[in-house]
Amino acid sequence: MKKPLLEAIRDRPLLGDGAMGTQLMFAGLEQGNCGELWNLTHPDRVLAIQRRYAEAGSDCILTNTFGGSRIMLNRHGSPDKVVEINQAAVEIVRKAFGEKEGYIIGDIGPFGGLMEPFGDFTETQVRDAFNEQARALVEAGADAIIIETQTSLEELLLGIEAAKAAGAPCVIGSMAYDVTLDGSTFRTMMGVDPERAAEFMQENGADIVALNCGTGMDMQRAREAVQRYRQVTDLPIMAQPNAGQPKLIDMKVVYDETPEQMVQGVAALLDAGTNILGACCGSTPDHIRAFRKAMDEHCKATV
Ligand SMILES: [Zn+2]
Repeated sequence: MKKPLLEAIRDRPLLGDGAMGTQLMFAGLEQGNCGELWNLTHPDRVLAIQRRYAEAGSDCILTNTFGGSRIMLNRHGSPDKVVEINQAAVEIVRKAFGEKEGYIIGDIGPFGGLMEPFGDFTETQVRDAFNEQARALVEAGADAIIIETQTSLEELLLGIEAAKAAGAPCVIGSMAYDVTLDGSTFRTMMGVDPERAAEFMQENGADIVALNCGTGMDMQRAREAVQRYRQVTDLPIMAQPNAGQPKLIDMKVVYDETPEQMVQGVAALLDAGTNILGACCGSTPDHIRAFRKAMDEHCKATV
């Protein structure tokens, strides 16, 4: 019997997965097209990516549902496929793990707009969209729900509440921070700093506090964020930094931090108290394989 995720991370840190979006592009998804629809139209390609992560050593894999809410799918003309797309995504991760034990983390990304009074969406629309997506992911058997790449506490809260209402066994809130222009600190686009985010998540019943993506959030910055979380919360922590800074080369966004470079930061991130370590944009199965090796060595050395 597989232990619940929250129990498993008490025994040892777990390894997450790497990027999905950039991997889908490599697999032929065109910019601006709907990667989540591939769960139905090209499940074999999504599976191939996630199987590579499982083979590289991931203990946890996020479903390919970042933009799988009704509001996001509506932009691609598929609002009626929410349940189908999210259920298929859970099934694909399950297949990717195969016989191997692993955790399926149902992914909910931002709804991609602003809520009233700043934008066009009502709170009810966003709440309904998150509820619907969270329910589909949990009913399909996700071990946890992650509300990720969040910049506002208002939207994060709707996601946490949706995951809890759906009965998710574990709820992860993950913020995207940007390093400030002077490089002195980092906060979300909406001005939220890590201490406030962690306190807010704990107050509102999240089980794991996390960070992912963001601008300039490399392994060192991610470690700083974990340390700052650790000062205000006892909750487990998850970190998924990008593979360095995005650069525009030939009109394509390129992340060029190699597995060898990124892996240098693994031990320090674990020592800072990271319970689940993965990676975000630009990372590949090679990055995750390097992380696996470094994590195993680090855990052996600290037993
Ligand atoms: Zn990212």
